[in-house]
Amino acid sequence: MQTERHSHGAIATPLQPVPILTYHNIGIAPQSASHRGLYLDPGKFRLHLQVLAQLGYRGVSMEDGLPYLRGEKKSRVAIITFDDGYFDNLEFALPALRDFGFSATCYMVADRIGEYNAWDSELLGVRKPLMDLAGIREWIAAGMRIGSHSLSHPHLSRIERSQMRHEVVESKTELEQRVGVPVEHFCFPYGDHDDACLAATQSAGYVTAVTTRRGRVHSGQSLFALPRIGNSGKRSALLFQARTLLWGL
Ligand SMILES: [Zn+2]
Repeated sequence: MQTERHSHGAIATPLQPVPILTYHNIGIAPQSASHRGLYLDPGKFRLHLQVLAQLGYRGVSMEDGLPYLRGEKKSRVAIITFDDGYFDNLEFALPALRDFGFSATCYMVADRIGEYNAWDSELLGVRKPLMDLAGIREWIAAGMRIGSHSLSHPHLSRIERSQMRHEVVESKTELEQRVGVPVEHFCFPYGDHDDACLAATQSAGYVTAVTTRRGRVHSGQSLFALPRIGNSGKRSALLFQARTLLWGL
């Protein structure tokens, strides 16, 4: 475990590992939907934020969390991330985040803006609306941030290398041009990646890349292939607290 040394030589408390929380849909799962764990009830999401606040944690975006990931700053922060860019994030997560004064990063699928989850809608049995450009602008105007989740949400390690690089590079360019903000954070679709994917995100100019590997981030760890903590709607708030803050699983 890493420690910080004050100028007078005393050993300070160990650097806190930083939890990066993953969410998908904030809403009530439709009856027809399978994989219902991808949904979190809006009330439960609010409870998660309340648990964080009560324990002295601030919920932050990847941008705001970066100094803590790098070990440059030390404080109780939890990075909040949303995958895919669902419209319900705007509807239900945003008001709760604002109430607590928290920020968050939402990873957008650049070629599916304003469309639906075409990559897994058949598997899940539900078409889930994604934020359109106006929605993304509203998200950003409220102090939230965005990252890239590729162009079309493929398994990046399974497609042609040139295509993989295209997904990584062009999604950044496209989002930056259409939305008008820097896009410096990447999220691997399905968490799927290999060394070539990691290298592609780095050379494309991203600053971080997150996966679905479980755990908290310890200072000094590589900022590419960052682990996160998933949040299934099936778990209790107490379990959320223990997993996020104690176990990192
Ligand atoms: Zn995704």
